[in-house]
Amino acid sequence: MKIISSISTMQLEMKKQIRSGKTIGFVPTMGFLHEGHLQLAAEARKNNDIVVMSIFVNPLQFGPNEDFDQYPRDFERDERLAQNAGVDILFYPDHKEMYPDSFSIKVTVQDKIDVLCGEKREGHFDGVATVLIKLFNIVMCDKAYFGLKDAQQVAVVDSLIKDLNIPVELMPVPIVREEDGLAKSSRNVYLNQIEREQATFLYKSLQAAKEQINDGYDNVQEIRQYVMNIIEQNTDGIIDYVDIYSYPNLKAIEKINGKIIIAVAVKFKKARLIDNIILTV
Ligand code: AMP
Repeated sequence: MKIISSISTMQLEMKKQIRSGKTIGFVPTMGFLHEGHLQLAAEARKNNDIVVMSIFVNPLQFGPNEDFDQYPRDFERDERLAQNAGVDILFYPDHKEMYPDSFSIKVTVQDKIDVLCGEKREGHFDGVATVLIKLFNIVMCDKAYFGLKDAQQVAVVDSLIKDLNIPVELMPVPIVREEDGLAKSSRNVYLNQIEREQATFLYKSLQAAKEQINDGYDNVQEIRQYVMNIIEQNTDGIIDYVDIYSYPNLKAIEKINGKIIIAVAVKFKKARLIDNIILTV
């Protein structure tokens, strides 16, 4: 596995690979790898000649009161895990390499961001879009792999690729979970033991909602309230949102119908967790 930190070296390497006819699969991450990330790499491994992973904790997508400084980092561990997952090239730029002082472009996402994490994390998706445009121009991949854990991100990246005619195929990958259902996340290390047990109620509440829908309930506000009650009664976390929208358009709905997302975000003491399920009814 090659580790490359310089953008120009990376672009030369990728042009060489493309010229020799190789297909490129790309997995963008912020590191502190877990099985969710590794599943994206495994999918990329299946469908491409070369697998590129990036590790960059992108400051532009963190708000001023968010956990950029505390975000967990462990490059040596990540390097080992990426290598074992069959990554060929690990792109690991530093902050100055990605955002030199001369940086003067601002990218603004206009749709699908007034809900869920977009509403709660102002500017978050502008930061995501900025770094992804840069990464796509650096890696020049054929396919890019994104986890449905961040389902709103998948919806925004879908628009980004379509609207800007970026020649990349979006490859969404289902959420990888712990045995007890908790969605794998780099931030799970910041849960204490009690919170870790309580955190299983995010997924349990989503499963309970799914059962209600299977039983024929279709009132969005009632199902939302039902999910909130389960989380409130079983965790000390503070609900950031529990919402149901059409997916991937993320428009408000009154009745459950068609493809929908039920998404939750809950703040524990040191970690804000998100989870979702996407259903077609
Ligand atoms: P992050 O490092 O948190 O920015 O995540 C990098 C990529 O891994 C994103 O596309 C995430 O959606 C994806 N990812 C994170 N956790 C999971 C998970 N539990 N299952 C599937 N994909 C995930």
